[in-house]
Amino acid sequence: MYDYDFFVIGAGSGGVRASRMASTYGSKVGICEDYRVGGTCVIRGCVPKKLFVYASEYSSHFSDSKGFGWSGADQAFDWSTLIAAKDKEIDRLNGLYLQTLENHNVEVIQARGRLLDAHTIELSSAEGTRTVTADKILIATGSWPQMPDVPGIEHAITSNEAFHLEQLPKRMAIVGGGYIAVEFAGIFNGMGVEMHLLYRGVQILRGFDLDIAGKLNEEMGKKGVDVRVQTNVTEIIKTDDGLTLTLTDGSTLAVDAVMYATGRAPNSKNMGLEELGVDMEPGGAIIIDENYKTSVDNIFAVGDVTGKIQLTPVAIKEGAALAATQFNDTPTLVNYENIPTAVFSQPSLGTIGMTETQAVEKFGDDIQVFKSEYRSMKFTLSGRPERSLMKMIIQKSTDKVIGVHIIGPDSAEIVQGIAIAMKCGATKAQFDATVAVHPTSAEEFVLMK
Ligand code: NDP
Repeated sequence: MYDYDFFVIGAGSGGVRASRMASTYGSKVGICEDYRVGGTCVIRGCVPKKLFVYASEYSSHFSDSKGFGWSGADQAFDWSTLIAAKDKEIDRLNGLYLQTLENHNVEVIQARGRLLDAHTIELSSAEGTRTVTADKILIATGSWPQMPDVPGIEHAITSNEAFHLEQLPKRMAIVGGGYIAVEFAGIFNGMGVEMHLLYRGVQILRGFDLDIAGKLNEEMGKKGVDVRVQTNVTEIIKTDDGLTLTLTDGSTLAVDAVMYATGRAPNSKNMGLEELGVDMEPGGAIIIDENYKTSVDNIFAVGDVTGKIQLTPVAIKEGAALAATQFNDTPTLVNYENIPTAVFSQPSLGTIGMTETQAVEKFGDDIQVFKSEYRSMKFTLSGRPERSLMKMIIQKSTDKVIGVHIIGPDSAEIVQGIAIAMKCGATKAQFDATVAVHPTSAEEFVLMK
């Protein structure tokens, strides 16, 4: 007899969903968390990031407003007010998550979990160490920012620290060209920081549609972000005046802070997994089968720790599928096709399905690409030089929409609706048969000729 039917290590997006669903299905469930319930997304990821994006967009809104007749709208920005408001909101959400777990009879234990054997978990906290046992165990410990081994890297911060900086830096560099790098470059630039984005490759957002990534580079430049591609940092030196970065071309860059957004590594170390024989990839990603089972029969893993798609909604779906399969006799698989995603850069972008490059690789000349580039109505009066781009990729022989990519205002909101249509296998003819909502940006998708 075990203490629990199901014990979850890590109360982030995947762990919380799996534990709560398993409990709903009648299992006795416990979950341990060594920091705060909610995980990266709620505590130091998606949620505070989006609050920061909103905060940073006001500078553009103030300048846009002049073209509409407003004056005197220029306001000063106070970083500490934002941080305090953000912390209060995160506390609120943390409380709601805790309450949800308690309402679902999930026992929440504030402790760090480590496996002693396939059914025994050691729980360590300031109060001491104890063990519990469980029939099935889920590892949902997420991921952590990783930084390269550059001399002086101890002076760099990651997104974790960016949420708690005591002061807003005047000059800042971000290293990386992925989601977090471009999002934070927009955030700090909007807050008035002199912003340098340093990316080692030829074009930021590798893996995204080339036109869209290129457009973001261009638009960020217009907003004042110094985007430097094929550039990396070879050394970080602390000076009386801040930091001096030595770059790969031998030049130097003086900043007050440097943030690394160079990917996130699975949190799978020092948890007893190696000792137990749980198979992992060299970088620490836990290897799972389609039912999230690891190489040890009763141990499962979902979310970032599996090193697959590092997105909250994916981890949530995985946690729910696992619980339904294991505790409700309903074998459930997650369909990883056509996962929509958004990057909250400025301008924001939304994407689903194949990029043009992927479509050409798969279907050769059996594709057709529709593009629409335009200036948003809002920016005509405001005079903002920002332009939007929408792109739709069709497989000619089936008429199916196989890729949609947007950069411009409200992209994230628009792509969610498009994602449903694509999940239903929508064709270009069905998009064309849909009546436009006018005047909107999204109507472009039913008017593309
Ligand atoms: P990404 O994998 O998206 O990007 C990492 C970036 O760092 C790439 O540009 C990569 O370059 C670069 N890089 C990697 N190693 C080095 C190095 N040694 N030196 C210099 N540059 C390096 O990771 P992020 O950290 O931005 O985000 C992690 C994940 O979190 C994302 O992949 C995403 O899944 C998720 N996320 C999702 C968000 C959303 O949904 N809006 C928001 C934020 C994060 P290269 O291209 O050459 O490999």
